[in-house]
Amino acid sequence: MPRLSVVIVPRNQIRRRVGELAAEITEAFGNRGLTIVGVLDGALVFLADLIRRLPMRLELLTVGVRSYRGRDGTAGEIEFRHRLRTDLAGQHVLIVDDILDTGATLSAALEETMSHEPASCRTCVLLRKKRGRGGSSLAGAVDFVGFDIPDVFVVGYGLDFDGRYRNLPDIVALQQVGGQPR
Ligand code: 5GP
Ligand code: MG
Repeated sequence: MPRLSVVIVPRNQIRRRVGELAAEITEAFGNRGLTIVGVLDGALVFLADLIRRLPMRLELLTVGVRSYRGRDGTAGEIEFRHRLRTDLAGQHVLIVDDILDTGATLSAALEETMSHEPASCRTCVLLRKKRGRGGSSLAGAVDFVGFDIPDVFVVGYGLDFDGRYRNLPDIVALQQVGGQPR
């Protein structure tokens, strides 16, 4: 049975950093309208907090992505549970996801978004995992990053394990006897 171990990012730090990210995004986009593409389900809580700190006119779209991974934690298949249904021509897009690990999910969301030919597309993740070998080539290319965290499996603030823990207000490491859950 996995169990919760240490708090990696407490709620007050999340709150402060979400405000800073909103300020960075506002400075980058100015008064241009913004189209946000949220990657569900994990980014749900982050999205809800972030958009309420953004002052510009914005439209909110979502894609539903599920990622499967190999036993060793390497990237596996990406499955879209729902795709973008709108034409993005002329729009400035910001993709928002919860966490960047191998980068497979964000790559798939980027590819899906770019296929709708937006005027521009940037990316934002709340968490970026520090991986050793097999690190993501996207890691250095994300435009807005909330926190760099160690390579541990985390839950809370929207992130789940087997459908649980999304409702925790803090981001907490989950420890499993016999290794990390993936
Ligand atoms: P990537 O595709 O970059 O390997 O991983 C990104 C996706 O895998 C995230 O959107 C998230 O759904 C899931 N993921 C990666 N690392 C973690 C983690 O530490 N905890 C949880 N709950 N999900 C993770
Ligand atoms: Mg996700």
